[in-house]
Amino acid sequence: MINNPNISFRADGSPYSEEFSDIYFDTESGYQQSSEVFIQGNNIQQKLLNSIGTFTIGETGFGTGLNFLLTLKLFISLYKQLPQTNLHFISAEITPLTREQIQRSLASFPTLSKEAALLLEHYPETFSPQCTIELLGGRVKLTLLFQDATSGFSQLHTTRNGLVDAWYLDGFSPAKNPQMWQVALFEQIARLSKPQASISTFTVAGHVRRKLIDAGFRLARKTYIGQKKEILIGIFQQGNNLGKAYQLRPKIVKPQFATIIGGGIASACAAYALTQQGVKVTLLCKDSTVAQGASSNKIGALFPLLHQQQDDISLFYHQAFEYAISFYHQLLENGYHFSHSWCGLLDIAYKDSLIKRQEIFSQNKAWPKSLIHSVNSQQASKLANLPLAYGGLFMPRAGWIAPAELVKQLFKAANDTNNLRIKNNIEVTELTQLDDKKWQINTNEGAIHAHVVILTGGAEAIPLNVNKTLPLTSVRGQISAMHSNVNIGKLSTVICHKGYLTPENKGLHCIGATFDKDSFDMQEKEIDDEYNLNMLNKCLPGLTDWQLNHVASSKARLRCMTPDHLPVVGAMPDIDAHKKTYAHLAKDKNWRFNTPAPCIDNLYTLTGLGARGLCTAPLLAEILAADLCGQPYPVDNQMLFNLAPNRFIIRDIIKRQVNV
Ligand code: SAM
Repeated sequence: MINNPNISFRADGSPYSEEFSDIYFDTESGYQQSSEVFIQGNNIQQKLLNSIGTFTIGETGFGTGLNFLLTLKLFISLYKQLPQTNLHFISAEITPLTREQIQRSLASFPTLSKEAALLLEHYPETFSPQCTIELLGGRVKLTLLFQDATSGFSQLHTTRNGLVDAWYLDGFSPAKNPQMWQVALFEQIARLSKPQASISTFTVAGHVRRKLIDAGFRLARKTYIGQKKEILIGIFQQGNNLGKAYQLRPKIVKPQFATIIGGGIASACAAYALTQQGVKVTLLCKDSTVAQGASSNKIGALFPLLHQQQDDISLFYHQAFEYAISFYHQLLENGYHFSHSWCGLLDIAYKDSLIKRQEIFSQNKAWPKSLIHSVNSQQASKLANLPLAYGGLFMPRAGWIAPAELVKQLFKAANDTNNLRIKNNIEVTELTQLDDKKWQINTNEGAIHAHVVILTGGAEAIPLNVNKTLPLTSVRGQISAMHSNVNIGKLSTVICHKGYLTPENKGLHCIGATFDKDSFDMQEKEIDDEYNLNMLNKCLPGLTDWQLNHVASSKARLRCMTPDHLPVVGAMPDIDAHKKTYAHLAKDKNWRFNTPAPCIDNLYTLTGLGARGLCTAPLLAEILAADLCGQPYPVDNQMLFNLAPNRFIIRDIIKRQVNV
């Protein structure tokens, strides 16, 4: 028997449950609170923009439908940008409100009147344990489980990959409604969650946190700005690596201090992420000022590396790109300015194999159009604001950034937390681990002692003793800065061909880049400027009339590369201990292990960013901060292992490329 609730209305219009002695929401702040806790807490807007297919939200406590309506409003506002996405909202409600009760409760929110009318038009008169309503021509489905949340969710079918992308844990407070916040509910939530499903709730009660952690969520507290209260957000990261303990990241007690060795984009993002978490960071930079290595380039393109299929590499670069874009927007919003333009990027199909690739991209639809889509030569010319002989693939949200300015602003932001100290002109020569597992860092200025050390020095740090166990290589690249002119000055997007060409900034364009494997030579060469000009002329003949005398300056720097084209972030593996612990992988790659990866205490790395640091450093730094501070990881377990420093030794053991 399904009962309607006994609701009274307070003077300000807030609906009040007589049964639970608690309000459904407070009319004054309810709208903002729901938006902040559930919609922003789960980052729903970004997730919708990134999703293809059905995006599913699970909720405990439908109540008046306020959270649903806010989500619906957001979905409608993004409607045009989401041609490939549907929304499925599944909500459990033990005592469903009548239409009249909903109508009266929502009367306080005139901005939701259209969405509320849509809901009420379809909301049932009588209540069966489960019913589904379709809105917006089926693009939005609302499944209402009119029963106890645990029993309702236990009846839902799921696949190995899970069903739900985001959870709104609403409901009355745990103190007033203990029957809902029980272990059995969290077990159902875990059963239905996709990897990386997010969760948010207004309660930070200890027993709720413990139950969520036991169910497989990594949690973080976040300040809810409206009332300066804390809310809880989390990400489902339960082991899909069962039996593969070498994929588990080592646990560390959040350090008070960390020492970063570097000075470029990786260091800047790491310093930013850690100082935001309250870790006191010391940066050891070998130069007299930061951003002197690869990050010193005048202009750098920001775009994801995408293949035709959603393979591991593209999935990582896609996620990193999305993360970077919103990270940079936020930085700008917070008043940290750097030259940039979100002008889009044209990947020109200047030869047959690339035209084929372009066709495959448009046929197999692996990526949202808003991320990348095919354009013909007329469309490309319009986008570039210059006549182009070829079409290609266009990434509307890509662009360029001045890396050195960005790096300086990131360090400034880190410094503004009062948690950063930069020591310049410190050249690290060797690291030695002491008996207490702390580090002695030998430098040109004598020994420095550190608790946790993070290596971020890119290719220039490859020769360091502690880096020797990773298969990092240096690839030299020279970029030429070219004087702009009235013709090429009109260019309005970044162009990628075999190399690349950026729009004008401060009278200059950048073209590049050369690719010299295993070179550590940072001396500029005229022959490399010539190479850059020839490459541009060969791929896009006649686009510019540049000659060598138009070169304003050149810069040769080193990219730090890995064999699998993915960067590296995490704890440094103890290679000998890996060989011993996981020797059996050489005989059986499916052998199940429960011993977590043996790593060198207090030594972390963030490296191998190649030429893609602008795109990848923010996400990698967030992973590093999650490693050190026990925060939710922004990527799933498989991706974490794809980025882990020990992946190389594990693969080598499996392929019998090392003696164990
Ligand atoms: N999300 C709601 C909204 O937007 O109006 C507010 C929810 S109100 C704070 C909590 C809701 O949880 C109530 O409607 C209540 O009936 C429901 N609830 C309480 N215990 C429940 C349970 N065990 N299973 C399902 N729903 C429950």
